Amino acid sequence: VLRVTKPYKLASREFHPIDTIIDVSVACVSGGKVSIGGQSVVMMAGPCTVESERQLMTTAEAVREAGAVILRGGAFKPSTSPYGFRGLGEDGLKLLAKARDEFGMAVITEVMTPGDVLLVSEYADILQIGTRNMQNYFLLDEVGRTRMPVMLKRGMSATIEEWLLAAEYILSQGNPNVILCERGIRTFEKATRNTMDISAIPLTKQLSHLPIVSDPSQGTGRRDLVSPMTLASIAAGTDGLLIEVHPNPDEALKDGAQSLTISQFQELMPQVHAVATAIGRDVITE
Ligand code: PEP
Ligand code: MN
Repeated sequence: VLRVTKPYKLASREFHPIDTIIDVSVACVSGGKVSIGGQSVVMMAGPCTVESERQLMTTAEAVREAGAVILRGGAFKPSTSPYGFRGLGEDGLKLLAKARDEFGMAVITEVMTPGDVLLVSEYADILQIGTRNMQNYFLLDEVGRTRMPVMLKRGMSATIEEWLLAAEYILSQGNPNVILCERGIRTFEKATRNTMDISAIPLTKQLSHLPIVSDPSQGTGRRDLVSPMTLASIAAGTDGLLIEVHPNPDEALKDGAQSLTISQFQELMPQVHAVATAIGRDVITE
C-alpha cells in the first residue's frame, strides 16, 4: 500500500518519485529525439503566432541556427478581444509542418477545443494547452485520451495545486506525457503583463515528477525582461524555455512587445549555455 496524501495522485512525487522524462522526435539532433525533463535544457522558440510563410520560415531558420530544437507558433490563437487576430487555423498548421520538414525541428502549437485535438495532433509534436484553458476539463480529457506530449500552461489565476490537478485530468485518462509550463500569474502589479513565478519551478519539482518549462514571454509581456527571466528560470531548474521571437516585432500581429528580435535571441543563447553549465546541465542543440 502506497499512501498518497496529495489530492493530485498520479502527478505527485509521492506516487512517482523518479523524474518523468518525455521523448520528442526531433530530426535535427543526433539520435533524432530530445528528452524533456532530463539532464539537458531544451529551447523552444518561434513566433507567438504564425502570420505568413515568410515570417515563419525566416524565424524557424534563425532560431534553429541559434540552437532551438523545437519550433513554437500559434495557429489557433486565444484572443482577449474578439477583434484581435485569431490565427490562420489549419493553414497555420500546414506552415508549421512545412517548417518542421525543412529545418528538422519538432513543433509545439496550441489546441483550444476538444474537436480540434485530432486535427492539431496530425501536425504537431507537442500539444499546448493555453492558460485560459487550463481548467477546460473536456479539453484536458480529450488530450488525455491521446499519447501526445501535452504542455499544460498554468492558468493565469491558478494555484499550483489547481494546476497539478489539471495535469491529473490528463494523466488519469492514460496519457503520461505531461509537461508543465509556468507562464506568469495575475497579481496587483501592472508594470509587467504577468508576474512570473520563478519559485513555481523548484516547487513543482518538489511536488511532482513532471517536467516543467518556462515561458518568460507571456511571463513578463516585456521584451527587455525575457532574457533575464530565461536565465533565472534555468538557474531555478527549468527543463526548457518557450520563447517568442519575431523577425520584426514592431509589426507582429500578436505579442510584438514581448517578442525577441532574431539578434536578441542569438545573443541570449551563449548566456543560456553558460548558466546551464554553471548548474551542471547542458543545452540540447544538435
Ligand atoms: C502563447 O503561448 O502565445 C499564449 C497564448 O500563451 P498563454 O496561454 O500562456 O497566454
Ligand atoms: Mn503569445
